[in-house]
Amino acid sequence: MEIDEAREVRTTCPYCGVGCGVLAKVAADGQVSVRGDPDHPANFGRLCSKGSALAETIDLDGRLLHPEIHGRRAGWDEALDLVASTFSQTIAEHGPDAVAFYVSGQLLTEDYYVANKLMKGFVGSANIDTNSRLCMASSVAGHRRAFGSDTVPGTYDDLELADLIVLVGSNLAWCHPVLYQRIAAAREKRPEMKIVLVDPRRTMTADIADMHLAIAPDGDVALFTGLLAYLGQHNALDRTYITTHTTGFGQALFAASVLDLAGLAAATGLSEDELGRFYSLFAATSKTVTVYSQGVNQSSSGTDKVNAIINCHLATGRIGKPGAGPFSVTGQPNAMGGREVGGMANMLAAHMEIENPEHRDRVQRFWNAPAVAGKPGLKAVEMFKAVADGHIKALWIMATNPVDSMPDADAVEAAIKACPFVVVSDVLARTDTVRHAHVRLPAAAWGEKDGTVTNSERRVSRQRAFLRVPGDALPDWRIIAEVGKRMGFGEAFSYASPAEVFAEHAALSGFENDGARDFDIGAYAGVDAEGYEALEPFQWPAPSQGAPLWPAGDLPLKGGDRLSWPSSPIHNVAKRKQSAKLPISPLEGEMAGRPEGGAQAGGWPEGVGTTGLQARFFANGNFFTPDRKARFIAIRPTTEIRTSPDYPLILNTGRIRDHWHTMTRTGKSPRLSQHIAEPFVEIHPADAQRFGIGDADIARVSSPRGDVLVRALVTARQRQGSLFAPMHWTDQFSAKGRLDTLTAPLTDPISGQPALKHVAARIEKF
Ligand code: SF4
Repeated sequence: MEIDEAREVRTTCPYCGVGCGVLAKVAADGQVSVRGDPDHPANFGRLCSKGSALAETIDLDGRLLHPEIHGRRAGWDEALDLVASTFSQTIAEHGPDAVAFYVSGQLLTEDYYVANKLMKGFVGSANIDTNSRLCMASSVAGHRRAFGSDTVPGTYDDLELADLIVLVGSNLAWCHPVLYQRIAAAREKRPEMKIVLVDPRRTMTADIADMHLAIAPDGDVALFTGLLAYLGQHNALDRTYITTHTTGFGQALFAASVLDLAGLAAATGLSEDELGRFYSLFAATSKTVTVYSQGVNQSSSGTDKVNAIINCHLATGRIGKPGAGPFSVTGQPNAMGGREVGGMANMLAAHMEIENPEHRDRVQRFWNAPAVAGKPGLKAVEMFKAVADGHIKALWIMATNPVDSMPDADAVEAAIKACPFVVVSDVLARTDTVRHAHVRLPAAAWGEKDGTVTNSERRVSRQRAFLRVPGDALPDWRIIAEVGKRMGFGEAFSYASPAEVFAEHAALSGFENDGARDFDIGAYAGVDAEGYEALEPFQWPAPSQGAPLWPAGDLPLKGGDRLSWPSSPIHNVAKRKQSAKLPISPLEGEMAGRPEGGAQAGGWPEGVGTTGLQARFFANGNFFTPDRKARFIAIRPTTEIRTSPDYPLILNTGRIRDHWHTMTRTGKSPRLSQHIAEPFVEIHPADAQRFGIGDADIARVSSPRGDVLVRALVTARQRQGSLFAPMHWTDQFSAKGRLDTLTAPLTDPISGQPALKHVAARIEKF
């Protein structure tokens, strides 16, 4: 795409799953400025500290600008030929499962799509997994168990319509700040809205909460199974909904009812009074949204936690309705987009199932592929174990830094070092992972490439280039396609632009999709370069034709029209119709007369959250299971404590407000580093006294796998018996602060997501 540097370009933030719209501009002197996009339905002009500082993170310092082979500069042809020939040779000698891709929620959907197509359709292995495995895999597994599909039922509007928001394992104020601001603004307008925070720590999010339940680590299953039992005992069930739209309720209620209130109090670490007040509030409030994030997902019981939450919403019929539903908030900017194209080792493209022969056949025919992988591949933790034990002999890591971010990071680093052939495509020249690569491929960065991302509410938005690509860097989709061509799959990878990739992805989603599959953006299958460039944010599904996915009700269906999902009162319908060459529905027409833009000073646009037009899944049932009913999952309340006399504390890991992942981007901004300048560990005053730790002391935190040196922060915000430390610092930014050298490769048995929030540890003064 031609870069017009005088123009303000509409793009999206590359950080969290809120998916805020950003306006970026390059001034005549080369200075880049960014501001929130007032017309983007996720943020209406707002940005958090990280988004506001984007311009400070895009200099070329430290960039990988040319391909390198064994540390020497190389040309693209030489590097790509080497990657293609080595992968092909490895496959020929050891089979397709001897190679693997480890990809990233930072990739754009088009990148993800091409990588997945190459591995699952043409290599014939499903050994492609993503760092999103560390982020929301348990939500995916929970959705699929309950709904038969990975469908997030809610939208951001629901947060403004709810009378009760239950935030579970989510420090929204720091990790999804603009969503937090939306809730705060809604609460200011409707002070009667109640907010409950379930978190072992009293985080900044507690400031907005009416009730903070300082739950014991991994006490969530007990909390929500107890809630299901309470709802049954107190006649707070929607029996009509249960009978009509679900199966398995009796077994789920039976399993949930094994503990009495005293037992639940012991399992959750909460008092009986706290449990009673929360349960009665939930039971009495129809419009309830339960928002959950990594505190739920990053657990060895993450999938059960997700289903325990969903069970409560199914039991009360609070799903798919305005202001009601379970709502998984994703950590990364494109975790959802990666899921859509099959970027996880256990999924096919377009939410099709790898274990389903019909789905495999459909994908194979659509791609005209030689062999679609017939079984799930290795999930992230298993994948690096397979690298360590020599089963994987060629590994391609894209846009992520597993040497610092994977659990048991030292073991992962050793595995990568021992792997016979490692390719890393990245923006930076010297991350802890890049330095172990035999071949380094320079990737285009945010601001330099075009594509799409999908945020937590299923909203697809464009990322657009506004900077020239430096050096020899290329967008990831193109690098992968070039390798695919050199491996002999030329025709299937002959894309000329990301628009072509997106159009194919959209076409596959609608291919032989009669409504039995949730993900469908077939309406965009014919999008051309001009339409792609002008693409407005939209929410899926957006089917191209045929019967509506859902029968009548409060869904916006009109006659024989295609199903339409108007996403916001400020949707720029006329522009989209004109430039994207897409039909609009009567409902969108109704909305077209409304003013565009219009973020109001000091608040969100009027009408947001009040239209009732927002498409919601499952309002009338019709899930994606064979009988179209949602499934209750029978879950028994359990707790698992992994402490021991040697490691008597539980270490919880997470994010802080102004840094992102391993700081490869936010670490460039002095402003962002001012918020918290060094790695730290939070410890309760009683624990500090017990272990002889003073405030601001340097402390050694150890687990059976390693130790770090961090500043002690003694605070009653921290739950007694637990520690909290942020995940961001690496050896590049701190002498010995690489936190994931402590975390364990212990995973949820269903989702494969690592239990990054429950690590047995000890602390001592350094
Ligand atoms: Fe970016 Fe998330 Fe902040 Fe929005 S809330 S500006 S998407 S980091």
